[in-house]
Amino acid sequence: MKFASFYRDGALNVGIVDTATGRVRPVSGVADMIDLVTRHADGKISSSAPDLALGDVKLTAPIPVPRRNIFCVGKNYGEHAREFSNSGFEAGAKKDQAIDEYPAIFSKGPNTVIGPNDDVQLHANITSSVDYEAELAVIIGKPGRNIAKKDAYSHIFGYTIVNDVTARDRQKNHKQWFIGKTLDTFCPMGPWITTSDELDPENLDVKCWVNGELRQNANTKDLIFDIPTLVSTISEGMALVPGDIIATGTPAGVGIGFNPPKFLKPGDVVKIEISGLGTIENKFVAEG
Ligand code: MG
Repeated sequence: MKFASFYRDGALNVGIVDTATGRVRPVSGVADMIDLVTRHADGKISSSAPDLALGDVKLTAPIPVPRRNIFCVGKNYGEHAREFSNSGFEAGAKKDQAIDEYPAIFSKGPNTVIGPNDDVQLHANITSSVDYEAELAVIIGKPGRNIAKKDAYSHIFGYTIVNDVTARDRQKNHKQWFIGKTLDTFCPMGPWITTSDELDPENLDVKCWVNGELRQNANTKDLIFDIPTLVSTISEGMALVPGDIIATGTPAGVGIGFNPPKFLKPGDVVKIEISGLGTIENKFVAEG
């Protein structure tokens, strides 16, 4: 199933999306998506409410206000790890050590999250090197701590798309990724959550276009640290809770992979598509 969060008549709703008809059926009796995921971790829920045309509602991020953060993974595709390492934007990068022994985990704040078609602010007063990162994101359903790899998929509710927007100069200058990753509007997400039963997360095409030019084109089978490893690692000594979001890393083709780098400028449109999950498309604007 596909679950979206959307505004209708000023109120936030959760609904079941039918992509064949382009309609969404509101679900009653749940406060929001986190409540739905918490109480229906198996993704089994129905609704008999009248459906609405997707074009008549305003989609938000499926989880518009994460309860704590978005867990993120750095350098999780080989080619991207090398392009980042060679770009000059990785603080402390060591030659010939692009691939890490353990996954690099960092975080984006809940302030970053915007909807699948909302504008991203370029924050031109504090950065001149804003970049895109197309990523598959995991949504946790069943809570757990110290989750074994073999059990990891049973804790996953579904999947969505995120753009892990990054200010490269801040990522480099501060020698820590948080401050370059967590500016307001830096996490477009959506268009909805697709439940685990509908797809094979280890074989999804990830594509990203900037102004119609294909920049990233990869498959999740090439993840260095696979999804069970990520769930297991992040849950070590820290309970994962329903609605937690893990962005699994971006493939090669980001702006710093080019020489000279291709950073985003006002009016640029970044579109990301992942097979089975839909598309998000966001314009980058000067404000912020
Ligand atoms: Mg990333």
